[in-house]
Amino acid sequence: MKAIRRFTVRTVLPERLRGLEELVGNLRWSWHHETLDLFRSVDPALWESVRYDPVRLLGEVSPDRLAVLAEDRRFLRRLDAALDDLRDYLTAPRWYQSAVDGDAPAAIAYFSPEYGITAALPQYSGGLGILAGDHLKTASDLGVPIIGVGLLYRHGYFSQSLSPDGWQLEHYPAIDPGGLPLTLLREPGDGAPVRVAVGLPEGRTLHAQVWLARIGRVPLLLLDSDVEDNDQAARDVTDRLYGGGTDHRLLQELLLGIGGVRAIRAYCRIDGHPAPEVFHTNEGHAGFLGLERIRELVDEHGLSFDEALEAVRAGTVFTTHTPVPAGIDRFPRELIGKYFGGSAALEGVPVDRVLALGEETYPEGDRTVFNMAVMGMRLGQRVNGVSRLHGAVSREMFGGLWGGFDVAEVPIGSITNGVHAETWVAREVLDLAVRETPSVLEGRGWDSVLDVPEQEIWRVRRLLRERLVLDARRRLRESWGQRGASEAEMAWIDDALDPDVLTIGFARRVPSYKRLTLMLRDPDRLRALLTHPERPVQIVIAGKAHPADEGGKRLIQDIVRFADSEDVRHRIVFLPDYDMALGQMMVQGCDVWMNNPLRPLEACGTSGMKAALNGGLNLSIRDGWWDEWFDGQNGWAIPSADGLSDPDRRDQLEASALYELIDDHVSVMFYDRDAAGLPRRWLEMVKHTLATLGPKVLATRMLRDYVHDLYAPAATSARAMAADGYAGARELASWKARIAKAWPGVAVDHVESAGEDSPHVGAHLNVRAVVSLGELSPDDVAVEAVYGRVDPSDAIVAPSYLELTAVTPENNRVRYTGDIPLDRTGPFGYSIRVVPRHPLLASRTELGLVALPPTPPGMTNGDLR
Ligand SMILES: *Cc1c(COP(=O)(O)O)cnc(C)c1O
Repeated sequence: MKAIRRFTVRTVLPERLRGLEELVGNLRWSWHHETLDLFRSVDPALWESVRYDPVRLLGEVSPDRLAVLAEDRRFLRRLDAALDDLRDYLTAPRWYQSAVDGDAPAAIAYFSPEYGITAALPQYSGGLGILAGDHLKTASDLGVPIIGVGLLYRHGYFSQSLSPDGWQLEHYPAIDPGGLPLTLLREPGDGAPVRVAVGLPEGRTLHAQVWLARIGRVPLLLLDSDVEDNDQAARDVTDRLYGGGTDHRLLQELLLGIGGVRAIRAYCRIDGHPAPEVFHTNEGHAGFLGLERIRELVDEHGLSFDEALEAVRAGTVFTTHTPVPAGIDRFPRELIGKYFGGSAALEGVPVDRVLALGEETYPEGDRTVFNMAVMGMRLGQRVNGVSRLHGAVSREMFGGLWGGFDVAEVPIGSITNGVHAETWVAREVLDLAVRETPSVLEGRGWDSVLDVPEQEIWRVRRLLRERLVLDARRRLRESWGQRGASEAEMAWIDDALDPDVLTIGFARRVPSYKRLTLMLRDPDRLRALLTHPERPVQIVIAGKAHPADEGGKRLIQDIVRFADSEDVRHRIVFLPDYDMALGQMMVQGCDVWMNNPLRPLEACGTSGMKAALNGGLNLSIRDGWWDEWFDGQNGWAIPSADGLSDPDRRDQLEASALYELIDDHVSVMFYDRDAAGLPRRWLEMVKHTLATLGPKVLATRMLRDYVHDLYAPAATSARAMAADGYAGARELASWKARIAKAWPGVAVDHVESAGEDSPHVGAHLNVRAVVSLGELSPDDVAVEAVYGRVDPSDAIVAPSYLELTAVTPENNRVRYTGDIPLDRTGPFGYSIRVVPRHPLLASRTELGLVALPPTPPGMTNGDLR
């Protein structure tokens, strides 16, 4: 019989071992090796069998063993030391406390639909969640006062196995929050669990409780709708990650955004934590948080919707994560109408205003949908992509929201992702760093990596490769067993893979743009690489297809069938159930990390960064982060046939370039050994990669960028809006309304310049313009000369801007003048534009309004009337 409810009965630890509970209760253990060592020594065999999950360890360890440990002085000393270390970590000042000034926010709320903290908490599906986990861990390490918000999915993401013929099978093991390092958020008085409620149509209400996970110093609040106050449908809202249909997803996002803000308010009230000044939404799913904050401001401060919108925008950061249209969250407009109208409406937040926020108003937009990314950009004054290339692609993609501006000026920046070293770097590599280059661990002196003895690096690389090979064999056995193979049929697995063969890794989700099967394009070519007599290659593959993605499952099946063939199965393996634990094993053990997405659809990618930090080399299409940081010596770039419109031909070209690179370069270098058996040139590349990429790919670099470039400016803007009873927000809202109304009356009437008859470098060009301002005053606008090199079509390339000075108002027209420096030789051009100006704007493009001269200004001597 199946149980109808499940829960976990916890062990009662002997008094002297209670500290173990404190250690387990803070997920810092997931990246703290000394604490993990301590857990291992509780019961080494059990530690293996519970797959390094300390909650299960404490649940299953025998009372006899606990009694022994409670008397073991050496163990107790280590336990006390680990506790001391944790308490110190949680309270001592860190980077944020000394490196930032008064501009820095007192707290930041970070919203994400998924979090990858540890394999033992399967609340993530891929890169978005892993990044969120790394963001919180790094915030903790740096002392950045973030509060994380997410949902607790009762089934998390699926675990994957294979059918006998290689088809992906999904299982959704139920989690039990009582068996996880989580505590319920409770009211201080009566200890009742905190309840968050969100109004639904037809008078229904969605209730949720709030679980608290401690990620080092960072609290993570996870909302859970599986509570008695809910009907079954409402209980199932948080049943699984990205499960169900459109309605289900919308309900999850309502709970995350609106319920999430309410959970934060409850947490801050109970804990005394300062209220967040900045709200960061990791992709569009949590965007409704902005609507709830508007509601709060309307209700508590009597602001109008528009005034509240300005206040909210100022303190909101929105990060977009994908240029793949299918990856962007969109809902039918009727559905939004239903959930934000009638009895479900948020007070002070009219449904037509909600709908307008998500409208795709650009020319190619679909007017029947509500786009969460578009809403994110309208509700956040600061928007970023996740690599330099992705920033550029996003400016192109969403530029229509900013009307008449050049793509380069679209106010979407970028902060390239990074990875949390302690989570992803092998213990042995960290130990090597402690011994040989200690300064690196404090983030300095990366050049010292170049002096590390090569045989030391090679020894560690061999060890990690071997560990991967052994783990792969264990996983293969398990998988083949599940697929129905007999013991005799599995004998070959004992010799599958080889700890001395060049090992290439490929692991990722399986959407079509990632092209899992590009390597299969020419099976004979691949077979030849795998079975090369002197320079063999072995490939370790993992990845999950979305449960609804039949195409992706077919790709997995293609790979599995190829890898099942007797002639290559010892050199190419597909390992089921890609998760953080397998990911760690792979990025640590592979010599080469391969990535072949369709450029430019990979927004950033982070697995290659993890490999690089472990001394792996990247072999990748120049997409995402690799486009930015490939330098010709830190790995290999697979040439991309970007411009080709025929996808088949493109795959053909890129696959053949890939085979060639592996055959002629990668494997040649790997097997080129000196007298001591070391691949010198390879190891030089490894050192170069560590020394130069190391500091860039760290999440500490990423988080500092977020603090300096986004969080601190957003906090400053938010304070400027809120001061004096939200005077700034009121002022800005009414100014924007006035500008929008009067803008049709703004025009550049006339332009002339002097000095172009004998232009030379170092001279100046005096420009004069006459501008009609209609109802506006010179204080409302900036009149700018836009100048620089021009291309053959007269477009100004990488323009500079010079603000002109108003000289004389004449009726409604104003004369402006300025001197453009002629700072370069060659073809040069300029134009004039008028843009709205206000100190509370983050950029002059913000309103999407610009007035340009009617025709390109000729270099005429027109008369200035
Ligand atoms: C790092 C990681 C990802 C993201 O890596 P990409 O390079 O973006 O594919 C996804 N899943 C797991 C388990 C990871 O460890």
